[in-house]
Amino acid sequence: MYQSFIGLEVHIHLLTATKVFCGCRSAFGDEPNSNVCPVCMGYPGVLPTLNLEAMRMGCMVAKALNCSIPERTWFERKQYFYPDMTKNYQISQFASPLGQNGSLELEGRGANGERINKKVRIKECHLEEDAGKMIHTGTVSLLDYNRAGVSLLEIVTEPDMETGEEAEFFIQQLRRMVRYLGVCDGNMEEGSLRADANVSINLPGRGLGKKVEIKNLNSSRFVRLGLNYEIRRQAEVLDAGKAVVQETRLWNENRDETVPMRQKENAQDYRYFPEPDLPVFCPDKAFLGSVEDAIVELPAARLKRFVAEYTLAEEQADLICEEKAQADYFEAAVKAATGTAAAKTGTGTAKKALSKTDAADRIAKWFLTDIKHILHRDGLSGLDAFALSPARLASISVMQAEGRLSGKLAKQTLELVVAENRDPEAIVRERNWEQITDPAPIAEAARQVIAEEKATVSELAKLDGNNEKRRKTLFAYLVGKVLSATGGRADPKIAGEQVKALLEN
Ligand SMILES: [Zn+2]
Repeated sequence: MYQSFIGLEVHIHLLTATKVFCGCRSAFGDEPNSNVCPVCMGYPGVLPTLNLEAMRMGCMVAKALNCSIPERTWFERKQYFYPDMTKNYQISQFASPLGQNGSLELEGRGANGERINKKVRIKECHLEEDAGKMIHTGTVSLLDYNRAGVSLLEIVTEPDMETGEEAEFFIQQLRRMVRYLGVCDGNMEEGSLRADANVSINLPGRGLGKKVEIKNLNSSRFVRLGLNYEIRRQAEVLDAGKAVVQETRLWNENRDETVPMRQKENAQDYRYFPEPDLPVFCPDKAFLGSVEDAIVELPAARLKRFVAEYTLAEEQADLICEEKAQADYFEAAVKAATGTAAAKTGTGTAKKALSKTDAADRIAKWFLTDIKHILHRDGLSGLDAFALSPARLASISVMQAEGRLSGKLAKQTLELVVAENRDPEAIVRERNWEQITDPAPIAEAARQVIAEEKATVSELAKLDGNNEKRRKTLFAYLVGKVLSATGGRADPKIAGEQVKALLEN
């Protein structure tokens, strides 16, 4: 068996309003070549200026990945020719990138369901400009330079991963993190987050083997499939007594295999030299302070806290923490239900606060079933304008917990809050949906049902002890009839007791 070594280079588009070295708009999907100027088109004599916001966002990611930020960081020119880069060089970082020697702790379950527990060292994070985009159509190639000069942060790991599953999980965790930080939208289809993966295999104890790079993987799944394919392919090459060729390959998603692209350049081929038109950047106290202040609680830490603080199952916490807005929504709803927040439902009639774990349990269940379903069904992308605010969800949960609202009607209330954008208390009051807990009207409804359902009652009377299952079915049927007769408002427990009492008489 061979040992495998996987490293990743992940490129993320920073969500700066303008490009990294000029004032052009930075946006996906605009009219081709509409966001260009002499600077990003590389006209002779133009001067780049550093976008401080790009530097700040880059440093936020570096900090979140436990990197150190050097006292002096600067830019280099990386020389190479490519039609999508009019300058024939790319401004990048080489000798002193903005983030150095960090790590990311991977903890969770991979695509194959296996537990992943690994610390991946981060070699560096560097800021650079993206190239334009080539569109090959028929016999011609078109060039769109809107992307040329867009802020790009490259995150480079050490070859610490061993399986495609680990690499996929790394990408997913990193994607979640940069979205939490608000520095990248993480849209892999649009190329806002792209990964190159390198992999080598060798006999255990022999260190790294010959490195193969797989370029431009635009989904975390392809990262996994491509790497696992490449590990198998390289093992077959070595098993056959041949040597692996150091090269760059592409993942062919239609044929599920990697194909050769080019032999790999070495760093010296790029002839890096310091960019003479940009000064060295020395982050001062104020800058570093603004970086620290912008870093929110990171998703992995939040997930752990949700498990510990709210006793959620890890899977539940993972699903809720997938998006920061969801996790914020969840916590706001729990706070409102436990009465620790100032949040009011408007009518503010929630009578007693729930315990934190009871509230969390109820809110999590609502969120992961009905609410996810509604958001998906109604095509809602965010929770900001969602009619079912955290306070309104808390109110429904409290009414249900107090026994004032049955599960079925709670569900309908929730739907109506969304449809009508009104407070749940008002909806429940107006429709007279409060659960009936007074035994007298329930007993009356039960008497009527027993009188009407003669066949069922007589079958029940004839059943002996061997027909427990049938007895339960018939009993549930009668209780269901009582609930229907009260418009679903009767407390099911009391309805059951009344039916039982009548049958025994
Ligand atoms: Zn420009």
